[in-house]
Parts: sequence; C-alpha cells; structure tokens
Amino acid sequence: MNKEPALAQLAEEIRACRRCPLGSVRTHAVPGEGDPNAEIMFVGEGPGYHEDRQGRPFVGNSGAYLESLLADIHLTREQVYICNVIKCRPPHNRDPLPQEIAACKPYLERQIEIVDPLLIVTLGRFSMAYFLPNSPGISRIHGKPTEVDGRIILPLFHPAAALRNPKWDRATRQDFAQIPSLLAKARATRAQNAPAPDDFEQLSLF
Ligand code: SF4
Repeated sequence: MNKEPALAQLAEEIRACRRCPLGSVRTHAVPGEGDPNAEIMFVGEGPGYHEDRQGRPFVGNSGAYLESLLADIHLTREQVYICNVIKCRPPHNRDPLPQEIAACKPYLERQIEIVDPLLIVTLGRFSMAYFLPNSPGISRIHGKPTEVDGRIILPLFHPAAALRNPKWDRATRQDFAQIPSLLAKARATRAQNAPAPDDFEQLSLF
C-alpha cells in the first residue's frame, strides 16, 4: 500500500467531516501527522487550543514535552506518527463525549490500518480506554504494556498531566524509557510471524 496518499486522502475526509457536532465548532480539524511508515504511533485524546488553531497535533506545551521525551530516546516527532482519538477540539477543552468518540472511531481505525505501527502509545485516560476498555485506570496501568491484536499498547499519562505533576513527570520518563526495548521485541515478534517465502510460493499456486 502506498501509505502517504492514503493518509493524505483520509486527512481530507477528516477536514471535511461533520459526523458529530464538534465539526461545527472547531477552527481546524487535526487529522494527525508523522512518518507514514512509523513503527510507533502516539494517540492523544483530542486537540487543544493550539492544535485547533494550527490544525496539527501536540504543538503547545504538551507537544514540547512530548518532543523532549522523544529526544530522550533519540527520536524526533518526524520519525513517529502522532494523532488523537477525536480529531476536533471539544469546546473549552471539555472531555470528549462517548458519541463523539464513536463517530470519530473509523478515522483512527483507518490510520492504524494504514500506518500499521508495532507499538501504540496512548496518552491520557481516554486514549487508554479506547484501546484497553475495562482497564483499572491510568494510575494503575501506566507503563504496563499489553498486546492487543498483534500490537503492543503502552499506556502513559497525558503530557499535560505529567507537566502539572512532578511525580507523573518522573513516572512518564521511566515509562518512556521502555520504548526502545519494547520496539525491539515487537520487531522480533513480527519477523517471526511473517509468512516464510515458501508460504508465498504456495499461495501463488492457488
Ligand atoms: S470529531 Fe471526528 S467525527 Fe466529529 S466532526 Fe471532527 S472528525 Fe468528524
């Protein structure tokens, strides 16, 4: 699949979307951005004030914090894919409503399908609950990786929360430090599960 045009087309659909009432109150939709072939996808909750103004994810203080975490593991934001559960800002940064999350779900599903990351890092409780429903809460499971549908899900505190609380900042930096080893394991698992060349030959016979 040629991922770049597929993501660009999806972004156009998101910018034109009116599936839920947030489409009428946003300044800009925020589809997501980054490397279409990224091994790591970061999924936040929804755009904030600065993101809504610029149409880009994680560009305010939270974005600078995320970039500093990435720098700690020798990555830049251009090397990962960054998006949100919902693509338009709720008024006054209120929590997204269940019906808004449901309306926006197909966009995130398609982003995951196209980018096909090995590791999804959830930022904040709404993103965690999207991938790990019925989990006991972010303060209990942050930094604990779980495999879901062949991908590793790593829940973290939202950067805005970590910025406000030194304890959560320390925890987030520790959680983040696991990413290189988790990625190495995920690469090895995917390589093991990849079809052998013989399998392709057999498939082509039928
Ligand atoms: S939040 Fe999602 S579903 Fe609602 S209008 Fe924006 S893109 Fe469409």
